[in-house]
Amino acid sequence: MRALIAGNWKMNGTSAALAEIAALAAQVGAKPPAAELLICPPATLLTRAVEAAAGRIPIGGQDCRAEASGAFTGDISAEMLKDAGASAVIVGHSERRQYHGETDAQVAAKAAAAYRAGLTAIICVGESEAERDAGRALAVVGTQIAGSVPEGARAAATAVAYEPIWAIGTGRTPTLGEIAEMHAHIRAALKARLGAEGAGLRILYGGSVKPSNAAEILAVAEVGGALVGGASLKASDFSLIFSVVPSKA
Ligand code: PEP
Repeated sequence: MRALIAGNWKMNGTSAALAEIAALAAQVGAKPPAAELLICPPATLLTRAVEAAAGRIPIGGQDCRAEASGAFTGDISAEMLKDAGASAVIVGHSERRQYHGETDAQVAAKAAAAYRAGLTAIICVGESEAERDAGRALAVVGTQIAGSVPEGARAAATAVAYEPIWAIGTGRTPTLGEIAEMHAHIRAALKARLGAEGAGLRILYGGSVKPSNAAEILAVAEVGGALVGGASLKASDFSLIFSVVPSKA
């Protein structure tokens, strides 16, 4: 499967930011990238982002509720994202887990909702700094995989994003060895849980990916792409990241 380079804009961007998507669309129209791309803008921009992307860059949501509709003020369902033109949704981002108390079971339900609506689910996992320092990173992420990836997850509609919490927005990254160790661990857990589908689905790395470190991180075994926060906000930075995607055997 081609590498997936996904941008998570978080709570950033008003109408003016659509020009970044239009610039990316023009760029990939002129030169199709080796990687598959995805931009996840705030929900307020979703429909206009789809228009600005002109069919050249898939657009995704940053979260969804598990239910399809109902009395859930302020929430957005996977079906609504699909209707707005999204093709994917991030679920279980550590900021959702931290600020909204989302549990593994809720994340799994959101991923299942994404499948129900015909969206790809990007399921985020990752340990805190204290958990890594205590030597518990592998165990913590193993538990998150077991609880957050729904039974029956299919490779074509799922990516797992390993995002160590302490690396998000901090400029710090794990060593390449630590990334390789964790991605191998996640792959083994996915294979044990999902068989061939677990062997095939993409495992993204996320946490302070930028133009200067993207090539070395994307070349690590079992790194099938990146989830990019801050460096996805500007088309110029984001394109420097997806332009370095290596072709793997
Ligand atoms: C993220 O929000 O998923 C992320 C990885 O952020 P950043 O790239 O800014 O660390």
